[in-house]
Amino acid sequence: MAIDKSGTLYVVATPIGNLADICQRALETLRTVDIIACEDTRITKRLLDRYDISTKTISYHQHSKATKIDYLVGLLESGQSVALVSDAGTPGISDPGNKLVAAVYESGGQVKVVPGPSAVTAALSVSGLSADKFTFLGFAPTKKGREKFFTQVADSDLTVVFYESVHRIEKALEQLADVLDSQRTVVVCRELTKMFESIYRGNVQQVMKQLEADKVKGEFVVVIGS
Ligand code: SAM
Repeated sequence: MAIDKSGTLYVVATPIGNLADICQRALETLRTVDIIACEDTRITKRLLDRYDISTKTISYHQHSKATKIDYLVGLLESGQSVALVSDAGTPGISDPGNKLVAAVYESGGQVKVVPGPSAVTAALSVSGLSADKFTFLGFAPTKKGREKFFTQVADSDLTVVFYESVHRIEKALEQLADVLDSQRTVVVCRELTKMFESIYRGNVQQVMKQLEADKVKGEFVVVIGS
């Protein structure tokens, strides 16, 4: 029996690299909604093409104006169904999404989730560190507040997870080395689910050496044990 999707916003997680990492329900949702709101329509097109999905797309990103939210809420109010995706992983996790979701609730609309990959949970699960409780700090600041950020990481009693870009990953480890107890385990997860997936694990000094030897590129999640 086909599910009535009218008036519903579906928040759909998509792969963080390997396009095979998508569930049946996500594919079915993307195939059958009226429109897909994408962070970048060109990036989502690669996923849609891979699965022969021809649903109409519209861009919705962090710089989208309030009028775009109004437009999408209007579509839902008129009975259409909308899927929200980001470029990779789970919308709303260091990605756009929360404002649209909040606006749909405010309008009295319905939101459903199609859960799936996120770099945070992928990194935690492969880290070998306790993730019964953890703190996720999003992206390390690029300039202002960096020192304070790493002090916060070092002072935490919980496992800490953060995102860092390729341009600053080595610098981040140097800054961590200045403040972090040398007994704490650091796990740098690179290019998860992709061809050059690598896990660098040890104390901060050991991880710095491993990264240096590898001349790393790509996307990174850093996990610090408690
Ligand atoms: N919403 C996404 C999620 O749920 O994972 C995160 C989006 S955030 C803009 C992108 C950052 O996530 C990257 O800069 C990197 O730090 C991390 N990331 C995403 N994919 C990754 C992967 N395959 N391997 C390692 N880190 C990844």
